[in-house]
Amino acid sequence: MSLYLDERFSALEPYTPGAQPQKTGYVKLNTNESPFPPSPMVAPAVAAEAERLNRYPDPQAADLLEAFAGWFGLKAENCFVGNGSDEILAFCFQALCPNGAAFADLTYGFYPVYCQLYGVDAKIIPLENDFSLNVETYAGLGRSIFIANPNAPTGLALSREEITKVLRSNPGSLVVVDEAYVDFGAESALPLLKEYDNLLIVGTFSKSRSLAGARLGYALGSRELISDLNRIKYSFNPYNLNRMTMAAGYAALKDESYFEDCRRQIMAVRADATAALGELGFECTDSKANFIFVCRPKLGGEQLYTRLWKKNVLVRWWNKPRIKNHLRITVGSRAEMDQLLSALREILSN
Ligand SMILES: *Cc1c(COP(=O)(O)O)cnc(C)c1O
Repeated sequence: MSLYLDERFSALEPYTPGAQPQKTGYVKLNTNESPFPPSPMVAPAVAAEAERLNRYPDPQAADLLEAFAGWFGLKAENCFVGNGSDEILAFCFQALCPNGAAFADLTYGFYPVYCQLYGVDAKIIPLENDFSLNVETYAGLGRSIFIANPNAPTGLALSREEITKVLRSNPGSLVVVDEAYVDFGAESALPLLKEYDNLLIVGTFSKSRSLAGARLGYALGSRELISDLNRIKYSFNPYNLNRMTMAAGYAALKDESYFEDCRRQIMAVRADATAALGELGFECTDSKANFIFVCRPKLGGEQLYTRLWKKNVLVRWWNKPRIKNHLRITVGSRAEMDQLLSALREILSN
């Protein structure tokens, strides 16, 4: 820490991303990336934009917003794009939480970090014992609400009806539904946008669109909410998306069949891996995401995590109350899940 750091940030605990070892040879199941490369349309689109890097990108991201509007059946004025959905979530915590924020005790680890960073008061609402979110505990909160749906790291999803209850029981409060994993089998809140102007949906191309390395997120909401996000963006970094990322996102969005194929494969591999883990004595939540949240009674999470790591299999473990004995395992390719399962069999047999 230097002499110059503002005291407000001296106690800030930054978010810890999952390990990103830059050498190869790992079975990388720790940060919920897609095991599949981006759509084959992406590389040529990116290469063409690389030739134009002497020019600033379009700050309005007009082509990309049109494509989003078409895909989601909205107007461009109801869509926003950001440098990863993390950037958009940051804008929300920074500017759209005048009365504080509320979110679950077990959810995306960036929410409490943004609260610290921007000095937002956080009300933490515990999940039930089975990690489900009881929407009755979210009524009349009087602050901005953040719900990851499906939730991370539990993988559990709320129905659209349950999200509706939260929206209805919090008139006048913003409800941000973080749909980072929605393409893997949950119900999107998208149809609710027509009716609820306190709803903001945030999504990402990092998981189901195989573009984690490009950093592309989006938000969908009322014209007023989108204009609030633009107010922050244009006060911070009007060129928040670079040319290559916009081209990559556009190409990925247009390749509908590739997207469908990838997400279906992930859901099929998830079902098979969940069954196989069950046979090995693991308890798995009913995950609607591209990861499986597991624990194995009588085996410590840390020990399992370390032993997998020694076998070059990377998964995620948190030294946190309630989930110390759990692991979050990203759904990789079939071959990767086979490697995980054989590593687990070896560990369990001695
Ligand atoms: C991965 C993830 C994000 C962040 O996505 P980026 O677009 O890569 O910044 C946001 N929310 C949740 C719940 C996530 O798991």
